[in-house]
Formats: sequence, structure tokens, C-alpha cells
Amino acid sequence: MTRVKLTTCSPEIWNDLCDVARLFLGECEIAQEGESDLVLSHAVEGGAHVARAGQAEARLPLAPDSPDPLEQRRRYKRGAKNALYRAMKALTGKRPPWGSLTGIRPTRLYAEQRALGRSEEQAVRALMGTFDVREDKALLLRDIAREQASVPAPAPGEIDVYVGIPFCRTRCSYCSFAAIDLKHGAKYTSDYVRAVTREMRLVAQDLSAFRVRGLYIGGGTPTALSAAELARVIDCALSCFPGAREFTVEAGRPDTLDEEKLRLLLDSGVTRVSLNPQTMNDETLRRVGRDHTAADIERVYGRMRQMGFACINMDLILALPGETARDVERTLTRVARLAPENLTVHTLALKRAAALRFTDYAADESEAQDMVESAAAAARGMGLAPYYLYRQKYMAGNLENVGYCRPGLASLYNIDIMEEIAPIAAFGAGAISKWLYPAARRIERAPNVKNVEQYIARVEEMAARKRALWTTRAAQEGSE
Ligand code: SF4
Repeated sequence: MTRVKLTTCSPEIWNDLCDVARLFLGECEIAQEGESDLVLSHAVEGGAHVARAGQAEARLPLAPDSPDPLEQRRRYKRGAKNALYRAMKALTGKRPPWGSLTGIRPTRLYAEQRALGRSEEQAVRALMGTFDVREDKALLLRDIAREQASVPAPAPGEIDVYVGIPFCRTRCSYCSFAAIDLKHGAKYTSDYVRAVTREMRLVAQDLSAFRVRGLYIGGGTPTALSAAELARVIDCALSCFPGAREFTVEAGRPDTLDEEKLRLLLDSGVTRVSLNPQTMNDETLRRVGRDHTAADIERVYGRMRQMGFACINMDLILALPGETARDVERTLTRVARLAPENLTVHTLALKRAAALRFTDYAADESEAQDMVESAAAAARGMGLAPYYLYRQKYMAGNLENVGYCRPGLASLYNIDIMEEIAPIAAFGAGAISKWLYPAARRIERAPNVKNVEQYIARVEEMAARKRALWTTRAAQEGSE
């Protein structure tokens, strides 16, 4: 693995500069001192950010001062990152598709440009000029903003509710969630259901003045619970948080679904279900530890249609180990025949918690890019438009995840979460509740512990954290 020494005159942005280096170097060891294969540096000299990468150097004048300290810090950080980006680009000759952007929400930057009064065309050009974003990616942001503009924004007093069920039948090799496979986790499910329903009941009263926009039961795989356990979770969620405009359940894997659970979802008023193939290649499914076949997906999908599910989402992951662009095309052809209303296309991201590591497997960048383009074309062919996007660290080819929808069938919850435009009350192990303070551009968080045993033991404390988030907000809002 490449060893990198990176120094800066501004230690508070050291991690941000590391993210820029990884755009070009992938997984590497970065330190502030010691032996290294490559030396990177950032300093401010003569009114400019000066970045050096090996023999390459880039200078970028400091941005004008802003009276807003937050904005001032942002301008400084952007300048430093852009300078290092230019030096790295000159050194390696590489051009990442999203340019110098390392954050998870590039849609925000497009919105920021538009908020300055710039036209769509000007906003696209600004992203290309300032951050070296490739034109197709900048246009994708424009298209997403157009689609989101057709979706009603959260009204004051609206919140989203998330309930996390961290169990799966088996664990996928690329998984970095705190999900437990049932071999190890079956002994916890009934205590967990008791805990999560208790947490909802403890907090429900504090939230009774809010209207629920999106109710989302996710995971893990919620349908890995028994039908009786799942029914207890759903009944509790519906009685604590009634009247949601949209109700999604991740029924992610067909090997967790039977007639009884599908009937339960339908009768409970679920409006959107995710059934996730990831790939329609059986060999890959086996390789990544998913205990089902592509035919299982088609069988369960067909049954869902017969039963009358009106909005089905399917998740795909591109650049899975061993998959070629041809395999992805075959997957897309089979998914297109099913014609889901929503399609979410992820590019593989391998985080530290995954069993599969970058050191064991690294996708070919240009092949990953071809796969992303095929998926975008296939989505268009299915009559779907891109409506939300996010990026993660350690993604194959530095690409992105995109949600596509049929007109009028965008998931409100997904937009709210990705754009951080509505508060969220989140229940279950590892769930993070958020309250937004838009005037101060600030978000207050109340995270639950990730460990399932700890969560079960400390559920009262988790509920108290959330109640504090809600009950102190009025005072804080008043003082802003
Ligand atoms: S289904 Fe999702 S949450 Fe479960 S193990 Fe696989 S990737 Fe992780």
C-alpha cells in the first residue's frame, strides 16, 4: 500500500486533504510524519494556497474574506482542497469524475449555485470550473434538481420516522452496516423487538404535534424477523406515528419473504417496498454471500405484483467482485423486464467494517464507469428519471449512488434524508435522530448505540437522548 506523508499549515483540514489524496491514490496509508513513498504538502504563501505533490505544484489565490465565520472556514477549506487537487492531477494525470468534490452530497453545491441566482447553465459551468466536475456529472445534478423540484418540500411541522431492524439472514461480504446474521443474531430478535417498540412508545407522545411525512422500516432486513415479530414492529410504528404520507419497508432479500409477510405488508398499508437483487448473476450472489438466486427475485417480484404492490424499488450494486460490464448489462436487461417503479443503483463502496477489503479486490475504474453509464441508460429506457444522489468514501471509480423513479413516484424519505431537509426521529440500534436548525445551518444529532446487546440494555437512555433533542429544540430555536 502506498505510504503518503501529508503536511499542512492548517491541521484542522488535514482529514479533508487526505480525502483529496485518496481520490487519486485509493486506499493508502497517510501520516503527518515518517517514511513515505510520496510527500504532499499544503501551505499559505503570498496570499495563495500552495500545494505540492511530489514534484508537482499548484497555487490558488485565497478567496475573499466573508463576514460569516462558517462561510469563511468553508472558503478556506475549499481553496486548500482545490489546490491539492490540482497538484495531484498534475502529478498523476488522472481526472476523477467528480473533480475535487469529496463530500457525500454534491447536489447541495448545485443548489448553492442556484441560490446565488445563477441559471441552470451557469450553475453547471460553475461546478465544472471551480471543482473540475465532469460535465456529465454536473448535468446529472441539474437533472436531479429538476426532478426534486416537482416533489412537495417538507412543510413546517413535518418529520420522517425511521425504524431500524439490524438482522439479515446471512451477511453480504461487502456489508459495512452493523447488521447481524441470524445464525448469530436469532437469540436477540425477540428482545430487540421488545426494545424498539418500547423506544417508539417512550418518544411518541413528544412527537404527537408533528405530522409524519415518510415512515421507513429499514435495516438490515426487517423481513428477516418472523411474521409475528414484524407485525409487532409495524403495529407499534403505525399506532405511535399514524398518518404517514409514505410508508416504506425494506423487504430486501427474497429469502426472507413468504406469503404471510407479504400479506402483512400489504394489509398494513405499506406504499413502497424494496426488493433488492444487487445483481441478477447467481454466481456473484453466491460469491458475496447472498443466500438467494435471481430466479427467487423474479418469483417474489411476480407475486408482489399479483398481490397489488404499487411501488417496488430494486437496489443494484455495480462493480461487485468478479462482475464485468457485460454481467451488469445482463442484470439490467432482466430488471428492465420486471419494470420496477424505483431503481437504486449503487457503486460498490468497501468500508473498513466489510469482510471484503480493497486490498483483496479493487474494481477497474473505467469498467465501473461503463457500468454506471449502462445503468443510467437502462433506467432511462425504463422511463425512470434520477431523483437523488449521494456519494460515499471508498467507492469504486470515485463514482456515485443514484436513485431513479417513475414520474410522481420519488421516495419522499430518500430525498429528505439525502438533502437533510426534514427532521428525523430514528429508532433502533445505530439509528441517528436529527433536528435541523436551518437559520444557523446546523443539525443536532442524537445517535443510538450500534451494538444490539447494548441497545437492548440501554433503550431507556436512547429514548431519553431523543426526547432531549426534541424538547430542547423550542428553546434553542427561540434563541437563534
Ligand atoms: S442485506 Fe444489506 S444489511 Fe444485510 S448483510 Fe447484506 S448488505 Fe448488509
